[in-house]
Parts: sequence; structure tokens; C-alpha cells
Amino acid sequence: MNSQDRLPSASDGAWHTRVTEALASISDAVYFLDADDRFTWVNSAAERLLSRPAAELVGRTVWDVFPDLRGTDLGRVYRMARERRAMQEVELFSAPLDRWLGGWVHPGRGDDLVVFFRDVHERRALDEERAAESSLFRAVLNALPARTAILDPDGTILTTNAAWAEGVVSDGRPFAGAGANYLDACAAAAAAGDRDARAAVDGLEAVFARRVPSFSLDYASSPPAGRGSEPSWWHLQAFPVDDRPRVVVTHTDITDRVTAEQRAAWQARHDHLTSLPNRAALYEAIAEALAEDDSGRVTVLYMDVDGFKQVNDSLGHSSGDLLLRELASRLAHRTRPTDVVGRLGGDEFVVVAHDCDAVGGEALARRFHGVFDEPFELAGTRLPLTVSIGIAASDPAHAEPEDLLRDADAAMYAAKVSGPNQHQIFTPALRTELDDRWQIASRLRDAASIGEFVVHWQPVVHLPSGEVTGCEALLRWNHPQRGLVHPADFIPVAEENGLIVPITRWLLQTTVAQGVVWARQGLELAIAVNISAVHLASGTLVDDVLGAVADSGLPAGRLMIELTETSVARDPEQATEQFATLREHGIRIAIDDFGTGYSSLSAVASLPVDVLKVDRALVAGSGPKGTAAPEAILGAVAALGAALDMQVLAEGVETREQVELARRVGCTYAQGFHLSPPLAADELTALLEEGLRRTGKQLLPRGPEPT
Ligand code: C2E
Ligand code: CA
Ligand code: CA
Repeated sequence: MNSQDRLPSASDGAWHTRVTEALASISDAVYFLDADDRFTWVNSAAERLLSRPAAELVGRTVWDVFPDLRGTDLGRVYRMARERRAMQEVELFSAPLDRWLGGWVHPGRGDDLVVFFRDVHERRALDEERAAESSLFRAVLNALPARTAILDPDGTILTTNAAWAEGVVSDGRPFAGAGANYLDACAAAAAAGDRDARAAVDGLEAVFARRVPSFSLDYASSPPAGRGSEPSWWHLQAFPVDDRPRVVVTHTDITDRVTAEQRAAWQARHDHLTSLPNRAALYEAIAEALAEDDSGRVTVLYMDVDGFKQVNDSLGHSSGDLLLRELASRLAHRTRPTDVVGRLGGDEFVVVAHDCDAVGGEALARRFHGVFDEPFELAGTRLPLTVSIGIAASDPAHAEPEDLLRDADAAMYAAKVSGPNQHQIFTPALRTELDDRWQIASRLRDAASIGEFVVHWQPVVHLPSGEVTGCEALLRWNHPQRGLVHPADFIPVAEENGLIVPITRWLLQTTVAQGVVWARQGLELAIAVNISAVHLASGTLVDDVLGAVADSGLPAGRLMIELTETSVARDPEQATEQFATLREHGIRIAIDDFGTGYSSLSAVASLPVDVLKVDRALVAGSGPKGTAAPEAILGAVAALGAALDMQVLAEGVETREQVELARRVGCTYAQGFHLSPPLAADELTALLEEGLRRTGKQLLPRGPEPT
């Protein structure tokens, strides 16, 4: 039996029949109610939905069949449909069905109602899901720290997140909110000259037009006046949301990252100890200065603290660091703001002076020497320090900053070699000299070079007797390419490269051996060996000298060492100590080049020495202008020697008159070209043997007659 069979015949009419026929077969549940809410007709879908056969429903009221529905919205909706004579919608949850049902209640004839019901459970679930999704979307959007907005195709802001509200544009106004046009706002800023805004407009338009998949831009935002001075940094990104041409715009705060990057970049260009520009930054500064100034007026000063290593070694690295910081700040205060002071590392500082030539550089160097006038206070001590400065002024040959720096370095090196507290201007000759030195140094370092040394011996004449009583050992280097190289060209290089001590050890051995040979031949010669200040400071001098004479058979008194006045003056106490020890063993000591070192006579008087070798300049009267006549000077030194029980030797006598003068004023010895140049050992032997054969004395052929 189907529901059609139970159609009430009371609600007649062909029309009614047609309608109910149509309704009977539709998938929506349909039922008719009379004015008392009594079911008058139900279709089969309604039977299924209400889980009741039509027979159980028709004739009974809704409230009888489903008492649970009393008091629900349904009654109200029925009433409203009747009162308003308009369709009412309702959604109900059916507990027995455990589903949501949607109802459409149509007013019928009189107070009859036609009610459609449909299972809306799936749709409602979907709606709920959508709603949940949309609130999730909101929550996510708001949780984003980036200022985020979604834009319509025309640039109108559809929605923004919570962070967006905190955004302010550079003039202090808040970001435009939903409804405003983002593109227009950017365009306005661009029109006002904001270049970043211009780029943003172009980029966004490209994204909207799908010409690019996305667009991003980093920009700085200065704070509105009076709200701090540090700009903040932002990353603007725009990308399409979906296939509709909507665009998401985000502004992410990247201030931390940018400042970290800026800090790293700063650190890469500065010295961590002093915060001064480092080597890389100095190169840039020089390059910039050169590019700016093609008139050749960029000058680089290269400074190296004298004896800094000793400070570090004796006071410790932390003191050394303090000193470098103090020095950095002093230097920075002595330069013009346009000049750049930097540190290359260690105790090496560089100043790049703009609009400054070599002469100006020299004035600046003097000023920097002055920086050291005030001693440095360190660990409770006041430390006097000096600096060596090299100056290089730009010229067209200086294409690269490296060249200028290298030349200044070379000049510094030359200044350093000439003594502490000096400055030197770079010249091309200096470069040649340095290259030369470098070549010599590299060859000298080769152990084979020791076999290339030869010794020449210059006779020393005892003036009262006219006899040759000694000689001075003078080193020559028989260089395979250069021939005989004189000591002035290689001794300083050997001193710098730590080679002078081994060379002198070899010389001492050679000298002693030669002395023994002469002694066997009946020639009793005292031999003098020149000793470098470096050797004196090395601490091995006493051992080296005594080691050479020990077990050689040569009486110690035949060996004399010569040290210049200046090398002794560097550390008189240390010299005195070593001299005393050597003299106890019979070794004799001479002060070489006496009269050139400007040391006071009293300083020399207190030294334990045997011989004063008066420099050739004094003997020849070619000393500094205004000095007294050679006779007076030589006389004074001879008198001093006599008073101190020292013997005086006149060096470099080139004429008969000079020999006579030396003899007259009371010098004990003389040495010089007039008597004999330095000779090879066998030449000297032959001469002296000839004298012995002729006169029984060690005489030179043209030696002076004894008085
Ligand atoms: P010095 O010790 O004053 O040696 C004397 C220098 O004067 C020698 O030059 C000698 O050849 C030169 N001479 C001698 N008589 C005359 C003269 O009448 N007129 C002129 N114009 N010169 C004269 P040399 O051999 O070239 O030595 C130069 C300097 O090199 C020496 O000066 C000495 O300071 C240093 N030297 C030489 N040999 C050695 C060495 O074995 N060790 C060290 N440390 N230095 C050395
Ligand atoms: Ca000498
Ligand atoms: Ca000398």
C-alpha cells in the first residue's frame, strides 16, 4: 500500500490530485497539516524521514506523534507561516534520527500548511566546517607577526590581520585599513618622492597582472620625528592568493637581521681591538682617495711602534692591547676628520691623508712622533715609546692602493733600519735598495754563502816603533755574481736577518786560526775583530769569543774585539759586564769609530776598554763644521786616553801628514791606506816577512820611520 492510496478525498479537486501525485514521488519529504497541525497527507519520503508509516501519522497531530517536538522552533514556525502567510524556514536537530533536518513551511488553504523537509545534515556539517575554517583562517592571519593584508584585484584592502593595525607609514599615520586602496596609498607615497614606494607600486602591478609569480622588497622606515633615531627595516612581499587575482601583501620586520648584517659588515671592515678600519677598509680608503684626487696628493703614512714586541713580551699581551688602544685613540685625535687612521695588525698603523703631498706627510709624521712624547701609562709604569714612520705620496705610477701601501711600508722599513724614532719618505731609489737588500738577504741565508766569505787584514802600526804589531780583520763577501761585496752592503742585512752571530763565530774561528799560523811563522800580531751591536745584545758574545781562543794555542791577549761607540751606548751596563768578563780572560776591547757617536767622554771613561779607535773623520778633519782642528781633537782624545790608561789609535790615515800628526799628539797606533790597505793573508805575510828579513822587525815597506 502506498501513500497515494491514502490521500484524503476531502481535500479534493483535480488540481489537488495533480499536486499530490507530483509530490508523492519527489525525494524531499512532504506532508500536509490541517489547522490543528494534524497530518492530512504524507509522501513516502516523509514516511522514511519520520520513520512512521502514513497510517500511523494521518489524522494525528504532530505533537501527539512526536511529543519531543513540543516547545521547539517548529511550533513557532507553523504559527508564523499562518500569521504571515509566508514561507518560513527552519532547521531542526532530530535526536532520534541524529541528524539535522531543514524545513520549509508553506501556508496552504486556510490554516493548512504544506511542509517540506530535507536532510540537511551534510550541508550543515559543511557549513560548520567552512565557518570553522574561516575562523581558523582569521586566527592564523592574526597570529602572523607580519603585517598582512589581502587585496582585491583593484588594490582595495579586503581584510587585514591584527599586526597590520600596528603599522605606521613614515609620516606617522597608521596603515590604511580594510576598504582603503593599498595601491593608491603606495602611489601617493611614490608621488611624494619615496623611491621604495615607487618600486612597490611597480612590483605589485606586475603581480596583479601575473607577469611575475611574486614580488619582494626590503626597505628602511625612518621613525617619525621625535621617536628614536634608528630606522626600522621591512621586507615587503606580495604574492597571489588563488586563481582569482587577489594578492596577499606582508610587511615583515627584518630590523634585527639587517642590523646583524650591518654589524657583521662593519666588523669585516674594522679591527676588533681598536675599532679602527682594517686592512681591507684601508685599501678601499686609499682607492677612494686616489680616485677622488688625481692630482697626486694622497699620502700614506705607515707606522710601526719601535720595540713593541718587548712591551708585549715583558708586560703581557693584555698590556700590549691596552697600549694599542690608547695609541689608536691618540692617533685618531691627531688627524683631520677627512684622514683615515687604520690598523693593519700588530703594532702597525696606517694613516691615509687626503690632499697631502710628501712634504705635508712629513709634517704629519712629525706630529705623530709627537704623539709619543707623552709616555704611555701601563700597569703602573710609564713607558716611553717611539715610532718609525714611512711616508709615500701618490704619483701616477700608483695605480693600486697596494702599491702606495707597499711603498709606505718600504719607507717605514728604511726608517726603522736607520734607528728608532725616525721617518723616511719613499723614493724609487729606496725600492732598488730594498730589492737589493732582499736579494742579499736571501743569498746570505743560504748556508753555502759562508764559504764565500773571505777576510782581509789591515795592518796596524805601532807609532813609537813603526812596527806592525797587529791587524784588523775585515770581512768581504766573494759573491758569485757581484764579486767582492763590502761589509757596508751586507752586514746590516745579516744583522736584520739573525745571520750576524753565526757569521762572526766563523770569523772568530778563522781569525784565531790565522793568528796561530802567523805565530808559527814568527809573526806576533794582535788581531782585531769587529763585533756587531746585535751580537753584543744577543748574550752569546762572551762564549763565542772565549770559545774561539780556547785550546787554540793563541794567547788571549792577541785577540781584540771592536765595538762602535753607538752600539755600546745602547746598553752600557750590559756592555760593561761582558767587557769585564772578556778582559778577565785577557781579551782586549776597542771602541771603534770613536768620536762619531756623540757619546760623552765621561760615559766612555767608565767603560773597561783598552783602545780608542778614533774615527777617520776626526783624523782627517772632515768632522762636522765648526769642530776644532784635527790636531786639537786628536790631542784631546790622546790626552784622555793617557789619563784613562787607554791606548789611542788613529784610523784611516791617508797621508804622511796625518801619520805624523797622530804620532805628534801621542796616539799609540795608526791604521790607514797610507800605511796599507786591507790585504789578503798571504800578501800581509809576505810583506812582514820581507821586513823581518831586511831589518829584523815587522815593518811595512813604506812604513813610517820610528822617531
Ligand atoms: P771599520 O771597523 O771602521 O773598518 C775600517 C774601514 O775603513 C774598512 O772598510 C777599511 O777598509 C776602511 N779604511 C782603512 N783605511 C782607510 C783609509 O785610509 N781611508 C779610507 N777611506 N778608508 C779606510 P771596510 O772593510 O769596508 O769596512 C767597513 C766597515 O764594516 C768597518 O768599519 C766595520 O764597521 C764593518 N765591518 C767590517 N768587517 C766586519 C766584521 O767582520 N764584522 C762586523 N760586525 N763589521 C765589520
Ligand atoms: Ca773596526
Ligand atoms: Ca772604525
